[in-house]
Amino acid sequence: MTHLRHLNTTCAVCGEACRFTVPEAAGCVGSRDLDTRPAEPLRSTIYAWVKRCPSCGYCAPDPGKAPEGAADVVKLPRYRWQLDARKFPNIANTFLCWSIIQEDLGLLAQAAWASLHAAWVCDDEGEDVPARICRKRAADLLRRAWEKGERLAGLEGTDEAVLADLLRRAGRFREARTVVAETLEKNPLPIIADIMRLQARLIAASDRGAHTVAEARRFRQPVPL
Ligand SMILES: [Zn+2]
Repeated sequence: MTHLRHLNTTCAVCGEACRFTVPEAAGCVGSRDLDTRPAEPLRSTIYAWVKRCPSCGYCAPDPGKAPEGAADVVKLPRYRWQLDARKFPNIANTFLCWSIIQEDLGLLAQAAWASLHAAWVCDDEGEDVPARICRKRAADLLRRAWEKGERLAGLEGTDEAVLADLLRRAGRFREARTVVAETLEKNPLPIIADIMRLQARLIAASDRGAHTVAEARRFRQPVPL
């Protein structure tokens, strides 16, 4: 069970005192999803990964800190619309607002992560269409990050594996298949190759569901006749 504690801070954008309920640090037991989503109990603490200032609507992992320029982004019509966009779950909007701030500040890989996290919230709420929108946004941000030479993760091939999953789960099977084929041609690390072969099977079956890295490892075992 995850214990809760209170976090008192001062919003770095508007100066209001804020109080948030947050879980104690949690680990995870078990395999991650193919898009890196951790297992429990960390998985369920997602609602506390970003916080929203109730006064000005600034959204960030720590509203007590604001990157330079964040205060201007919070005023943008696009940001204000996203803050209360009714078609997304509330916490997904908080992640998407944090994603907009980072996109506007040119931190595209970080913006992609925040959009993927918004998709996970939509998954938990059973909101399929908003989840697909969040994944499409994350995929676009990730490709823009690559153009700037930014990567999501250090391990070679991880970005491509995440992109393939984003596209598959967004229902963009043809694009996902291209990413899988291009990555396999480059003779990737064994774990990336396992993941991509699982992705190829899932795409062939038009499967848009969540699957784990452990499943990808299992597929490596030869099937007994
Ligand atoms: Zn504020």
